[in-house]
Amino acid sequence: MIVEKIGSRGVLISFSDPYYTNVYMIFGDEHVFVLDTFLGNNSMKIIHHLIENEGYVDMPVVIFNSHADYDHYWGNGSFKDASIVGHEHCRERVLLEGESSLLKYEKHKRGMVKLLPPTQTFQETLKFEDDEVRFFYTPGHTLDSSSSYDEIDKVLFVGDNVESPIPYLNHANFDQYIRTLESYLKLDWKLIIAGHDQPLKKLDLINRNIRYLDSLKNWNIKIDSLSNDELHRHVEQNLVAIKDELMRTVYKEKFLKHLAEVEKLRG
Ligand SMILES: [Zn+2]
Repeated sequence: MIVEKIGSRGVLISFSDPYYTNVYMIFGDEHVFVLDTFLGNNSMKIIHHLIENEGYVDMPVVIFNSHADYDHYWGNGSFKDASIVGHEHCRERVLLEGESSLLKYEKHKRGMVKLLPPTQTFQETLKFEDDEVRFFYTPGHTLDSSSSYDEIDKVLFVGDNVESPIPYLNHANFDQYIRTLESYLKLDWKLIIAGHDQPLKKLDLINRNIRYLDSLKNWNIKIDSLSNDELHRHVEQNLVAIKDELMRTVYKEKFLKHLAEVEKLRG
């Protein structure tokens, strides 16, 4: 695990077990913000230490869940009396899918997991004025995905919406996802923290993610231009995840044609 100070009031905690994941903290004037809570109470021990070391034990904690995939909220239960901020769909997903995620990903539990959904939900945006920290709806990787922006340090936290080498899709929401990524390009940020990548200072990865989504939207994906990692994620994860949705749309024929091309290439 690596702990790194960022800007004037941020701390980035990068976990490596069982896979690389970022949790970000903002020590505000009125609240301590914990952006995503990873895999359970053991994951969050370091966060409690940092709060203590920085002398913030008496300050209220605000947790933020970027979305309701298990690796972003299983540590919520480690904070007593904390307010949990998340999109209203994030709350719905935790309530609906929480129990089954515990069974499915049991091996990834790190310490006790008490399933707690967001308690302070929003539809479009929620701002903590005194702290100059903003949360806003950014559907893409999932329909409940949202992001956070620290207006003082200009740090943008995007959950799993930005990912290398290509994003994980859960829906055929290409236009919506592209709009979200383009909205990131318009913001004045110095650093982007994504869920499972090294912090980003440049636009490259966002632009690459947009190009991939654009090629899906237009069904002009060049399979042989994808690296092995990209091809694997594209075929084994993304096409599987969006298949049922696409089969109900006008893109059905193009999708089937693409599947046939992929199968031919892979023998
Ligand atoms: Zn994730």
